[in-house]
Amino acid sequence: MSIEKKIISPAQIREQEALCRQIAAVLEARSPRPLALVDTYGCQQNEADSEKLRGYLAQMGCGFTQDEFEADIVVVNTCAVREHAEMRVLGNVGALNHSKKARPGQIVAVCGCMVQQPHMAEKLKKSYPVVDLVFGPHELWRFPELLLRVLTKGKRVFAAEKSDGVLAEGLPSLRDGAVKAWLPIMSGCNNFCSYCVVPYVRGRERSRRAEDVVAEAEELVRAGYKDITLLGQNVNSYGKDLEPSVSFPELLRRINAIPGDFLIRFMTSHPKDATEELFETMAACEKCAHQLHLPVQAGNDQILKVMNRNYTAAQYLEKVARARQAMPDLVLTTDIIVGFPGETEEEFEDTLRLCEEAGYDAMFTFIYSKRVGTPAASMPDPYTRADKQRHFDRLTELANRISAEKHRAYEGQTLRVLVDGETGREEYNLSSRTNGGRLVHLKGDPALIGQFAQVRITGSNTWALYGELL
Ligand code: SAH
Ligand code: SF4
Repeated sequence: MSIEKKIISPAQIREQEALCRQIAAVLEARSPRPLALVDTYGCQQNEADSEKLRGYLAQMGCGFTQDEFEADIVVVNTCAVREHAEMRVLGNVGALNHSKKARPGQIVAVCGCMVQQPHMAEKLKKSYPVVDLVFGPHELWRFPELLLRVLTKGKRVFAAEKSDGVLAEGLPSLRDGAVKAWLPIMSGCNNFCSYCVVPYVRGRERSRRAEDVVAEAEELVRAGYKDITLLGQNVNSYGKDLEPSVSFPELLRRINAIPGDFLIRFMTSHPKDATEELFETMAACEKCAHQLHLPVQAGNDQILKVMNRNYTAAQYLEKVARARQAMPDLVLTTDIIVGFPGETEEEFEDTLRLCEEAGYDAMFTFIYSKRVGTPAASMPDPYTRADKQRHFDRLTELANRISAEKHRAYEGQTLRVLVDGETGREEYNLSSRTNGGRLVHLKGDPALIGQFAQVRITGSNTWALYGELL
């Protein structure tokens, strides 16, 4: 099936870059060394988007700061997945009143998934006069044009029209680190899980061309990145919209064939589309980390059905068994929602049982949050917040126990890690990751950052491993 994709051409991006030079002149006239702050909420896709915003801002001549009182431009890149994130965004945007008062002329922009919801764009327009510019994820590629309009017209600009999404290649990107890199391979989601706002704000699934993804991966490897995470809401449906279609395992094989010593990770995999071919490919590709984030969301078939997840608990566990058969050292993680509308005590206990059986190395657990416009928002939800919190606490306790057990089993083992940064602490001054993505604290020379090293695991707790360099 091929959907109509709105492609933004490299020529259009070059036009935006030309506007960056005009903006640089405007900003320089105001301040000799303009500074920008990019504040990012939510998922890795948003982090990748913020790297693009910083790429544009750097072309506008901006340096970067974490202090809003120093910033000439503040960009808040928002998340809409749960109410909690939205509340934090609104609180922090409101607080920008102080920095704007202290720094007249400061430009405040709010972008990302939250503002793609019409009620939120409206709220910012009406109740947050501090905000000068609002743009949704589909307008990110034309951030320079929108910002220039604010700067030259002196008017507020709102650009978050409903859209199925666009596909833009060739945006500049200023990446966060030098060891690990995000590599978005697709945008949007077609799954419409009944609780989730993502398909409404991120549009339909659009895959980047395999040639473009591979070329970017090659560039990252050349630049010295050692740990590349492929990003998509459901990477397993990558390439279905391409002509000719390219499967996700095929993409993995092509990236694996790039010469060099580096690791390939990916997220997220929807269980309904996780295939034996995927597991076999992960096992066969030597650069592919044996790490799978396979969000189950719930362990009860009725709840899974109402969530519109398209698998049963048994089918899910069967996939986990297959994946472990292909990769006995697999590190498995998941997302779980507790307190989905109408979820009973017994249904919740099915989730506990499934988690015990799946044996997750780590679990990301969330209390259900009602999202405007989703089917679940109009389902009866008789249980109290206290009931949900009680379930959440039981699940967290289980998750911590399993993680601690899994981590304890590493003690005494020797394994390869990638040293990825400093911890700021004296005793264990370096952080690193196992092939499966588990955190290992080490003591050693910071010159090792960006290198693979052999370590012996000497200790562990729920959250991390501790090791000695060999
Ligand atoms: N595409 C990914 C991730 C989407 S959002 C996937 O399908 O796994 C990340 C996680 O947030 C989800 O896996 C889910 O566990 C959680 N989430 C999404 N909507 C939510 C909601 N309305 N309330 C609580 N948690 C939610
Ligand atoms: Fe949301 Fe489901 Fe799509 Fe994930 S697969 S982004 S949970 S709709």
